[in-house]
Amino acid sequence: MLTKFRKRVLKYLAKRNERKHRRRYVAGMRATFVKCPACGGDFSGHHLWRLASAILNCEGSRASELDRLIHAHEWEQATRIDEWEGTKDERMYYIVRCPHTSNLTMMVLISVFEMWDDDYFEYTEQLDDESTRTISRLANGHWEAFPPAGA
Ligand SMILES: [Zn+2]
Repeated sequence: MLTKFRKRVLKYLAKRNERKHRRRYVAGMRATFVKCPACGGDFSGHHLWRLASAILNCEGSRASELDRLIHAHEWEQATRIDEWEGTKDERMYYIVRCPHTSNLTMMVLISVFEMWDDDYFEYTEQLDDESTRTISRLANGHWEAFPPAGA
């Protein structure tokens, strides 16, 4: 049985680990999202939402299904695919809300697991009015301010 003190220590360690992960996440986001494709400026004052993601080069992955949904602008269905694993490559579909542009932009990121390979953007797409409306509705309450807090 755990004593009160040990419980407190474990809680502290879990919190510390969480902060460490958060710091890494924030640093990674800052290094990756450097220049907004819509306005050409940096990302301060922008908002991001990860609409969907799929694991690559892996049996049973839904990457090609997701790719098809994205190209068909089936946004709502695409949001249901949210695969993620720390040890695999992933394709991540990020939506950028730029304060200087009325329409949303999609940035498609290849997240590479290998430490010595950098993540890179595969392509970006300026979304039309209809997609902007649909995605704004889906993203409601999910937007993350950039730069992310908690560094
Ligand atoms: Zn911008």
